[in-house]
Amino acid sequence: MTTDTEQSMEITTNTPVSERPDTADMSVAALRDEYKTFDLGSIPADDHDRWDRHLEVWSELESRNLVEFPECARDGCDSTRWRFSVGDPAHCAECGEPVTDAEQSSEVHSAANRLMNGEKVEA
Ligand SMILES: [Zn+2]
Repeated sequence: MTTDTEQSMEITTNTPVSERPDTADMSVAALRDEYKTFDLGSIPADDHDRWDRHLEVWSELESRNLVEFPECARDGCDSTRWRFSVGDPAHCAECGEPVTDAEQSSEVHSAANRLMNGEKVEA
């Protein structure tokens, strides 16, 4: 009666972080599905396991190079990795520089949406 294929495991909001598969072994679709289970506004600030896992899932998707993000505007920092926190502007994952203006902010968020939802990237 037991199946131990990890693919049959459905991750929900309540799945303990310790029981979730290694992000490196997950498909893009599985990563996207799990990412959607995080409700950032409702994760307690001290729930470090969940925040860490959320960032791991995000970083793994980012590392698959599915979407091109705008570059950080700071001189000498050509990072295209961004971090998001509730209530603050998106900021560079490398140097912490926030987005420079509304236009860059919307580019970063639109790239993030494509990364999460899988829309085709238009040049
Ligand atoms: Zn930067």
